[in-house]
Amino acid sequence: STVTETRMLPEVEAFLKRGVFPAFVGGKDIESASGATIATIDPGSGEKLAEIHDLDAAAIDEAVDVAAAAFPAWAGLSVADRSAILLRLADAVSEHKPIIAQIEALDAGKIEAQAQGDVQNFIDTLRYFVKLAGDVQVRNKLDVDGYDAWTHKQPWGACAFIFPWNFPFLLIGWGISPALAAGNTVVIKPAEDTSLSALYLAQLAKEVGVPDGVINVVTGAGATAGAALTNNTKIKRMSFTGSPEVGRLVGEACGRNLVPVKLELGGKGAAVVFDDVDVADTAQKLVGAITFHTGQVCCDATRWLIHRDIYDEFVDECKKHLSNVRIGHPLDPNSQMGPVVNAKQCARVLGYQEKGIAEGAECLVGGGAATVEGYEGNYVQPALLAGTLDNVAAREEIFGPVAYLATFETEEQAIEMVNDTDYGLANSVWTKDSRRAARVAESMVAGNSWINAHNVFAHGVPYGGVNKSGMGGGVLSIETLMDYYRSTSIVRPLG
Ligand code: NAD
Repeated sequence: STVTETRMLPEVEAFLKRGVFPAFVGGKDIESASGATIATIDPGSGEKLAEIHDLDAAAIDEAVDVAAAAFPAWAGLSVADRSAILLRLADAVSEHKPIIAQIEALDAGKIEAQAQGDVQNFIDTLRYFVKLAGDVQVRNKLDVDGYDAWTHKQPWGACAFIFPWNFPFLLIGWGISPALAAGNTVVIKPAEDTSLSALYLAQLAKEVGVPDGVINVVTGAGATAGAALTNNTKIKRMSFTGSPEVGRLVGEACGRNLVPVKLELGGKGAAVVFDDVDVADTAQKLVGAITFHTGQVCCDATRWLIHRDIYDEFVDECKKHLSNVRIGHPLDPNSQMGPVVNAKQCARVLGYQEKGIAEGAECLVGGGAATVEGYEGNYVQPALLAGTLDNVAAREEIFGPVAYLATFETEEQAIEMVNDTDYGLANSVWTKDSRRAARVAESMVAGNSWINAHNVFAHGVPYGGVNKSGMGGGVLSIETLMDYYRSTSIVRPLG
């Protein structure tokens, strides 16, 4: 029997038995008018897990109306009452963590232990923003001679969220927690490949008494269901996480409707490795980063800029670690790296390797498809390419376990190489020289710079890209919470 058969929790099996999943709006199941559905696949086995309903524009507009209608009552609750409900949801997610993590592992091809980490992160994020919102002063006195003046903050109304497939559950937590805690209602549109964990969340929300219409999940194709959400004029705020191509369309629609929009887009982050590092340790950590979730991480370091004097040693160390990565099904506890999310993405990852090599890059190690015995999943070998940075594989986001290596000699040159990109999400610098580390970290144009680490997140540390990587940032911090309040300035003459 397969790992899926032996390790799947009975609760997950029971959940998937439903077969065809309706969307969830106003506390009710909603099916597409035409009956159209989209299959959702376990990328680790290639087998169909379930189907989701493919909603049309009318159903999306209906969901926004429902969220807008639920807003006054939700916003009108005391902060204490709203917090209590949201904390009950966090507790329910916590109680069902193993179930949600397995659903996510199967639907998104995410190693089960990593999926558990994602679910825990959702819980921590929701609790963090509930606490933070409890401390927000909604009235702030202003100092104006001869006048009594203050600002008053209130939530906006129905807010929309469109999510990608790489961290489906975690990103829902990052997105909706500040919005809900501030008193907004939400319409969530998960990616069509990975909608199941969002639908499970909706069910939990209902069970713990989140009022109907406060959390709505709409499912369907991006070009229709997603686009309908971005074209809806009753949405008060839009948050999109995904590719720059679609981000541009979302931004255009929001511009037309004058809806404030937050865009969290792709990246082509760099890691700058100086010659004073512990080479073995740094190589191991960067290999760990590029293989984490099969490289489907927007803030990954995919351009590795290595000081010329340690380059050969660094490459040797990377080869050692890369050849030990255990590729396998996400539910197999021995697996370190799972599949790529779908066949199209798999072809994209392999295609970039071919195009990069055709443009003159050298493949140092790995590359190509991988086979996992007993499974017809979308498995690839991690790969290291090397060459000049004008190569397509060095410039465009691949979104797979592929790093592109190049050498540098001076600090100035390294900074110039890092910043020679349209993206600006996250980079890292690796050195024992703490002054140089701070200097380089501050010179890299991006929302986040890490020193001697990559992919470190903490509540309270703003996250988010600039340039082609997005706008509006501030994720995971007070900055994003404040986005979910609108402010009115009130002034009256004294006496
Ligand atoms: P995508 O842009 O293809 O899809 C994202 C979402 O947009 C999906 O829900 C999809 O259905 C929807 N969509 C597609 N077309 C649409 C349209 N015309 N109108 C409205 N919605 C539409 O992205 P993806 O392939 O799911 O995810 C990968 C991308 O996401 C990468 O570029 C990655 O870097 C980025 N990403 C960024 C962050 C971040 O925080 N910056 C986090 C995760 C992923």
